[in-house]
Amino acid sequence: MNPSGDDQPGALPALLFQKLASGVPGVLFSYWLSADQRTHYYPYVSAQVQTLFGVEPDQLRHNADSMFEVIHPEDGTDIADSIRHSAETLQPWVYRARLRMRNGEYQWYEAHSVPERQPDGSTLWYGQFHNIHHYKELEQHLRESEAEFSFQAGFQKLVARLSGEFIQLGFGSIDDCIDELLRSIGFFFGVDRAYLYAFSDDHLSMTNTHEWCAPGVRSLIRGQQRVVIEGFQWWQQKIRLMHDQNQVVFIEDVDQLPLEARLEKEVLAEMGVSSMFCVPIWIRGHLMGFFGVDSLSKRRWRRDMADLLIIISGLLSGALERNRLEEDLLNQSIRDPLTGLHNRRYLMPRLEEILAVCNRHGDRFCLAMFDIDHFKRINDNRGHLVGDQVLIRFTELLLNHTRTTDVVARFGGEEFLVVFTEVTEADMEALVMRIMAAVRAEEFVADNDVFNITVSVGAMCVSEMTGAPATPEALIALADHRLYQAKDSGRDCLVDASGLSRL
Ligand code: GH3
Ligand code: MG
Ligand code: MG
Repeated sequence: MNPSGDDQPGALPALLFQKLASGVPGVLFSYWLSADQRTHYYPYVSAQVQTLFGVEPDQLRHNADSMFEVIHPEDGTDIADSIRHSAETLQPWVYRARLRMRNGEYQWYEAHSVPERQPDGSTLWYGQFHNIHHYKELEQHLRESEAEFSFQAGFQKLVARLSGEFIQLGFGSIDDCIDELLRSIGFFFGVDRAYLYAFSDDHLSMTNTHEWCAPGVRSLIRGQQRVVIEGFQWWQQKIRLMHDQNQVVFIEDVDQLPLEARLEKEVLAEMGVSSMFCVPIWIRGHLMGFFGVDSLSKRRWRRDMADLLIIISGLLSGALERNRLEEDLLNQSIRDPLTGLHNRRYLMPRLEEILAVCNRHGDRFCLAMFDIDHFKRINDNRGHLVGDQVLIRFTELLLNHTRTTDVVARFGGEEFLVVFTEVTEADMEALVMRIMAAVRAEEFVADNDVFNITVSVGAMCVSEMTGAPATPEALIALADHRLYQAKDSGRDCLVDASGLSRL
């Protein structure tokens, strides 16, 4: 074999051929494979293999192995098959692979060659391989920017959908909307958990209010109620930065947390969290809590992750703020601003409800109307502000001596109504007397002067109402009538079905 073939008629002189080959921006070669496909070598390969890959052309003339050794392990898995296929079908051989350059770095090359069957059954290819690294990089870059473009477009679509839902509260309630947001974000970012935490007003504890978990991922929300932050130094510092500088908090690898985050590391490890990303949520200028995502496996977050999640937390802030506003408005209409108790507007439909349940299930309840004695004198003698303080303290006493299932309302100026649920008349009498005793024992202080107050009570039990169906108005009218009797009997006493009782 003599590939330069300068002894044949019409052939190029060897020197000319070599000069031509050295000017080609690739490597020219002829490659020979024995009929049994066990032996291969390069009868000719241009000298660039030496300068590019540090492979000796002389060595390749005897054995092709050292050329195959510079192929990237990931790219050479099917090269033998492709050569065999070309040998069998005599189709041109085309192959792309990364080759190890002399400096150790890999670059993409593409080979093209045409096979020719030899009389002894072996195959000889004539071709070249050239560098396509720049092209590959461009291709990769294009693929990445295409993926990035579709990611951004997908994110915009998601935000548009979610904000639409929040505006119309398309899911019925804010909680459903938040759950849907967490689910969508969780899927979109391919995380394992997405959640919302609310801080207590003093920022000393935090509560997980909403949570989404990917299928098969453990839910943590039950264990994350009123979590005291005090012991977690690192986290406290992060919350301060959220608060002071609106900073986000993220961890890519829990194992890389600093020394002062020892406790946090333990907790996160127990939760199985490897990476997380949290962004603050603000309502009317107050740091209300944070929104975040967890990954159970280590995760390199996108560089613009903070920007993306802040858009989402903005949606949440807006919705929560509007919701709180609506709640406040509703509360304002059914609560008394001085004492925080429910007012008459709330009480009447509530009494209606209680009556309906009582009619269906035969539940018993009692109703007591309290009126502070000579309250006007307090106002007149000590001023309105002192009067207000008395009303506030009186409310506290009432709440201390009733259960959460009872209804306590401010019925009028210094008149309060309590609905004692599930009690007999005797129970109720004892309960009211206890309240009266507590009121009488309470020492009020104003202008270095200590004074006491008393209260009169008219009470009734729903079981007394026989005959005509009871209405809230009828119950209140009876209690009010008895209160009048109590006042008439000298105040500081209770009048109920069994008559007058004093402490
Ligand atoms: P009695 O023992 O008969 O109940 O006498 P009283 O002075 O308590 O009764 P009256 O109903 O004459 O006076 C109630 C007073 O409560 C009149 C009103 O100015 C005062 N009042 C009503 N609402 C408030 C309030 O929010 N704050 C204050 N400081 N006073 C109030
Ligand atoms: Mg009064
Ligand atoms: Mg009164």
